[in-house]
Amino acid sequence: MDVTASFTRRPTRQVMVGNVPVGGGAPISVQSMTDTKTADVDATLKQIYALAAAGADIVRCTCNDPEAAEGLAHIVPRSPVPIVADIHHQYRRALEALEAGVACLRLNPGNIRKPEHIKTVARECKDRGVPIRIGVNGGSLHPDLKAKHGDKVTPEAMVESAQMELAYFEEVDFDLVKISVKASSVALMIDAYRQLADVTDHPLHLGVTEAGPPPQGLIKATAGIATLLAEGIGDTIRYSLTSDPVDEVRAGRQLLESMGLRERKNVDLIACPSCGRAEIDVYAVAQQAMEAFGERELPLQVAVMGCVVNGPGEAGDADLGIAAGNKRGHLFIKGRNAAVVAEDEMVDALVEWAEFIAEHGVEAALAKVDVDKAAREADRDRALLLESQGDDANHAEQRVELMRRHRHDG
Ligand code: SF4
Repeated sequence: MDVTASFTRRPTRQVMVGNVPVGGGAPISVQSMTDTKTADVDATLKQIYALAAAGADIVRCTCNDPEAAEGLAHIVPRSPVPIVADIHHQYRRALEALEAGVACLRLNPGNIRKPEHIKTVARECKDRGVPIRIGVNGGSLHPDLKAKHGDKVTPEAMVESAQMELAYFEEVDFDLVKISVKASSVALMIDAYRQLADVTDHPLHLGVTEAGPPPQGLIKATAGIATLLAEGIGDTIRYSLTSDPVDEVRAGRQLLESMGLRERKNVDLIACPSCGRAEIDVYAVAQQAMEAFGERELPLQVAVMGCVVNGPGEAGDADLGIAAGNKRGHLFIKGRNAAVVAEDEMVDALVEWAEFIAEHGVEAALAKVDVDKAAREADRDRALLLESQGDDANHAEQRVELMRRHRHDG
């Protein structure tokens, strides 16, 4: 099914993070952060490659000590994606990261506080044409601002922190800026970003910080990021999960693709929830299919359906799918029966056909098979299943009868 984004995006200026445009109508980019020691160049590069393969557009590395800064000098030229240096406390690390050739800096206004240090970094960035993300974090807000706002972290205090930093940048005429106002509270970050979007047209980097391990972390991050994206707010995103950073990238891509905000890159695997009719262990086969497709660049929707009685119809919009019946897998393409394979070859057949369709298209795939024969086979297995299970595989009539009896007895 073709999905077109129906969310009107807030107009923002554009900054370039290396060769990746952020804001100004550019596709929303996906970011993640390495969790290796940046000084360990090989381990960090290995992770950057894995993140890029999963669909990361931009990767951030911590630059927390002189060794990390030196590591960046080796990493930057070998990285497949632009590198952002994460700076906390020491503005000298920011200057060193610029020396290393990074494509962007992230500064936390809560812990680099001296105006002359902030302006020195901004001047250097201006000379080099390197953008800065003002990364306000609810957990490390400037103490004066917190005190001013009733000793509480409020959306207003977070926005004010970003504006104070912007004012320092303006003093040195530096405006290559994107901003984030992250918090671990979804409600707080949503409010902060909404208020920020009202007062600035700089591109915004969205995230729920310290969201935690999946699945809770995924739900929290999605609640915050998706709400704002649906309002048109957000130009680049990061899931902060307590998990392998590759999971962050996958989550980011999946969110954007599911909202029609990015072109599909990998398989969108859909599967029925399974029910009394299922002829296979749908959970296991769907999982095997997910693993078999992995990071393959096949921009298709693929369905795994538990039975041939309803599967091909329910997943008729998928590019490709398989439905089980009578120990066989009925392969269907855009809702049309195409082939029959043994049950234990279902996943292999899906991968093989997905590759063919991605390369040659749906029409070429259908021209290759005997659709009439496949339809007859599917009809036969459907009839067999209906005969053995009847129309009511979940025994709904019996359950309703039982309910009525209990009601009557009660
Ligand atoms: S009817 Fe078939 S396709 Fe639908 S949920 Fe049940 S097993 Fe899956």
